[in-house]
Amino acid sequence: MKYLIDKLEVTGSLTKEEFVLLLNYTSPALSEYLFEKSRKTAGKYFENHVYTRGLIEFTNYCKNDCLYCGIRAGNRNAERYRLSKDEILSCCADGYALGFRTFVLQGGEDCAYSDSDIADIISDIKEHYPDCALTLSIGEKEDESYRLIYEAGADRYLLRHETANAAHYGLLHPKRQTLENRKRCLYALKKIGYQVGTGFMVGSPFQTTECLAEDLLFIKELSPQMIGIGPFIPHHDTPFAHQAQGSLERTLFLIGILRLLIPNALIPATTALGTIDPMGREKGILAGANVVMPNLSPVKVRKKYELYDNKICTGEEAAECRSCLQNRMKSIGYKLVVDRGDFQPIN
Ligand code: SAH
Repeated sequence: MKYLIDKLEVTGSLTKEEFVLLLNYTSPALSEYLFEKSRKTAGKYFENHVYTRGLIEFTNYCKNDCLYCGIRAGNRNAERYRLSKDEILSCCADGYALGFRTFVLQGGEDCAYSDSDIADIISDIKEHYPDCALTLSIGEKEDESYRLIYEAGADRYLLRHETANAAHYGLLHPKRQTLENRKRCLYALKKIGYQVGTGFMVGSPFQTTECLAEDLLFIKELSPQMIGIGPFIPHHDTPFAHQAQGSLERTLFLIGILRLLIPNALIPATTALGTIDPMGREKGILAGANVVMPNLSPVKVRKKYELYDNKICTGEEAAECRSCLQNRMKSIGYKLVVDRGDFQPIN
């Protein structure tokens, strides 16, 4: 299978059949072969630098009912919260002092915020921190709303496609949520001018190797600036409570593939990866990732933004989250940098 990794490295992609073959014949030796290349590729574009994004989980109200997610509307046991604008700004103040130059506002699809409420929060943050990038991750909206929010100063948008196979998408979501609309959103965001991030869960229920091959081909086609993947982890109050968790090895292998697929992409070693293995984020960086996203949310709400069980970093202060990751990265020879960490096109 090494020849497929060589081909991926040289041509930047594979056919669907080749991806399926590669994913079906993984082994520890093949992973090492891949990671040597993916690490080298990351090093070529980013040296040993790791970018940080301060994650502010500002609401866990959600109108959607994604079957995998702990903050789905149908979960009556979730304790709901919203941060006020002042609370959000105070997270940014803490984050700025700690060296964050990107803030990510993430939340459920919360109808309490109108487009102009969101625009107002964004323009306030941008006014206080003009040298910072602002990323939103608040789900599916109309093109016009995305445009308004962009004009208010948002730079980037994260919206995982979750799975590029429409039938599989239908098994993870209620009927009213469609892959078609998710894709419409992603292309709209790109056209408006956002740096766009997409991605998927590894080992989500009913996922096949073909699904993953389709995910990779979709990502190649969309050509996003950021790609976030992490293992599926069951949440006890969802219909998928008893489904198996995604595999660490498979997630790492896919990070390696993504690095060769889009060599200059911004790829985080996600919190979910750190949740299923105590060294998950370090392993993610060593597989080719180059971003970490420490939690900047107020400690009092962290446990409530529970997308899956046993989520890490819910008990520490922002400062501890950053310095913990700084030490972790240092221990494997990498350096957290104080930088917006924008996508850099090749030439
Ligand atoms: N409402 C926003 C943010 C969603 S939460 C949106 O729709 O984009 C961010 C990501 O967490 C999701 O895209 C999903 O891929 C991931 N996630 C949700 N539940 C999960 C679970 N049980 N295990 C692992 N990842 C999960």
